[in-house]
Amino acid sequence: MTTSPSIQLNDGRLMPQLGLGVWQASVAQAREAVRTALECGYRSIDTAAIYENEEGVGQGLGDAGVPRDEVFVTTKLWNESQGYDEAMRALPASLDRLGLDYVDLFLIHWPAPQRGRYVDSWRALAHLRNEGRVRSIGVSNFTPAHLQRLFDDTGITPAVNQVELHPYLQQRELRHFHARFGIVTEAWSPLGQGQALNDDVIIRVARKHGRTPAQVVIRWHLECGQVAIPKSVTPERIRENFRVFDFRLDADDIAAIDDLDRNHRIGPHPDRFF
Ligand code: NAD
Repeated sequence: MTTSPSIQLNDGRLMPQLGLGVWQASVAQAREAVRTALECGYRSIDTAAIYENEEGVGQGLGDAGVPRDEVFVTTKLWNESQGYDEAMRALPASLDRLGLDYVDLFLIHWPAPQRGRYVDSWRALAHLRNEGRVRSIGVSNFTPAHLQRLFDDTGITPAVNQVELHPYLQQRELRHFHARFGIVTEAWSPLGQGQALNDDVIIRVARKHGRTPAQVVIRWHLECGQVAIPKSVTPERIRENFRVFDFRLDADDIAAIDDLDRNHRIGPHPDRFF
């Protein structure tokens, strides 16, 4: 069976470069999508406490019967659970819902700077990692200023920053910042929630390779060196999104897609969401 290549994190662990996202999936949909994904070769699943489907993810993992140490599971600390004590309690609650005794990656979901607690939360994540209940720790939706604050106050660098990233929002400066500090960039809404799939440039590149627009956009992420977690609950699309390891984009294709950047954000700005 085909598997995704992995990226080495700054703590030495490996993370699959392509995974399945399950935002806005119900418990039943998440269960089914996770089972389908694992059966066709995915080995990474991205959920969060706020998605209210961690139970379904856990059930899907159980249904597929893939050994625990072969699957990379990510969940996230919700904004209302920020703070040291709150985060220390939130992780066991997530593990309980997932039916797991550890997650591979635990992320602070948003910096929510108005709450003023992300540094305290980060200290809790470091503690949880030392206890072994999470293998790697990271953040999501952090800007360079938020990351700098973590470095300055704790000296602990996140392994991953999961941010909105697609052909219309390419996050070049942030990616350079990550590269400088050895942080892996993980793309959420990697398909631009479907928007990028109707783009003429993407459609042209897809026709040229005899592929679908989704496969071209996912391939672009892989060749840029970031992790991507496209979401679907449709079995055929889940499979389609994973059939991307047997072709490559050429320099012209990459340049054409790079040109689509227009700083178009779908989600909220990290400084203004809490
Ligand atoms: P996405 O870019 O993955 O787009 C998903 C949508 O694209 C699907 O709902 C479907 O409509 C369409 N689609 C998927 N595959 C397709 C295909 N092959 N052909 C045609 N259409 C297809 O958007 P997303 O769900 O927002 O992001 C992916 C994942 O990222 C989420 O499920 C979640 O795990 C994560 N995420 C994280 C954050 C965060 O704040 N950290 C925010 C949003 C999403």
